Amino acid sequence: MKVTDHLKASDDTLFSFEILPPLKGKSIQSIYDGIDPLMEFKPRFVNVTYHREEFIYKERENGLLEKIAIRKRPGTVGICAAIMNKYQVDAVPHLICGGFSREETENALIDLQFLGIDNVLALRGDSIKTESSFRPHNDGHAYAVELIEQIDEMNNGNYLMDDVNLEPTNFCIGAAGYPEKHFEAMNLSTDLHYLKKKVEAGAEYIVTQMFFDNEKYFAFVDACRKEGINVPIIPGLKPIKTMRHISFLPKFFHIDYPEALSAELLKCKTNKDAEQVGIEWGIQQSKELKAANVPCIHYYTMSNSDSVKAIAKEIF
Ligand code: FAD
Repeated sequence: MKVTDHLKASDDTLFSFEILPPLKGKSIQSIYDGIDPLMEFKPRFVNVTYHREEFIYKERENGLLEKIAIRKRPGTVGICAAIMNKYQVDAVPHLICGGFSREETENALIDLQFLGIDNVLALRGDSIKTESSFRPHNDGHAYAVELIEQIDEMNNGNYLMDDVNLEPTNFCIGAAGYPEKHFEAMNLSTDLHYLKKKVEAGAEYIVTQMFFDNEKYFAFVDACRKEGINVPIIPGLKPIKTMRHISFLPKFFHIDYPEALSAELLKCKTNKDAEQVGIEWGIQQSKELKAANVPCIHYYTMSNSDSVKAIAKEIF
């Protein structure tokens, strides 16, 4: 079932979450271990992120350099199929532009359709560590809007390979939005301008980057509506879990903590302290968002279900 149909079918705020494929070498059980504790809150859909491989060059004995893939995370498509099969819940694979030619994108989408997956979150992806800025595949997409256009074309029966008679796909397409603006955008106005293009190209809902100040989410929704972006906007929340997160999350995700939160974080001495503040803040944020009747609250687990469970217990 499509994410948008789940949203339409419920008057209440829904619960959903996102998981990361584990690093290579782990089994599917590590995914189930992260999902099992959250199933009691009846998620209507579970997102699975996509991660590009990163490469290092290792010198061989003969002096030649060997390119080695590191940090590989096993296939999002297979994980989505396993989740749908085990839990009878919709899985939403993330599909990115980075590293994919248009043909590879088409093939990935054909696999998804074959497996009965109705949803895709379409993203550009970040630059890989060895690049200073995002570089698209030579025959790929530079921006998420182009990926959305390709999926929309397939939804209209227009494939790249035009020599075979293929059925139109029927994907529900989601896109990313940034209440504190995307870090490369000149300002929030230009970011919203491009966000609207994604919706015009076929995105049917938006999931936001994590934020810790609900006022920023509410202001973002207002600004989107003024811009004529009228699709559902699902807020994304991430519970702070460790002392490292305190500086890592603002640095990596380009977000700010409100002063009331930073004041609490300054008092933390251990990971346990930081985790407790993260849970309490997450509960407070979720209560306010639910009271505002947001369509769904989407939690970033980042391989940590415990804090999300502690929050969800109070909210759903
Ligand atoms: P875009 O919409 O393409 O925007 C990128 C930048 O370009 C923005 O600054 C925008 O304003 C600008 N822009 C857009 N269109 C144009 C245009 N036509 N011309 C000029 N400028 C333009 N990354 C992963 O690698 N894997 C994941 O699984 C993943 N999941 C995510 C889930 C969510 C909910 C979010 C919010 C982000 C996720 N990301 C993921 C990170 C995301 O890939 C990065 O934030 C990336 O830098 C931007 O992706 P986007 O789809 O928002 O890009």
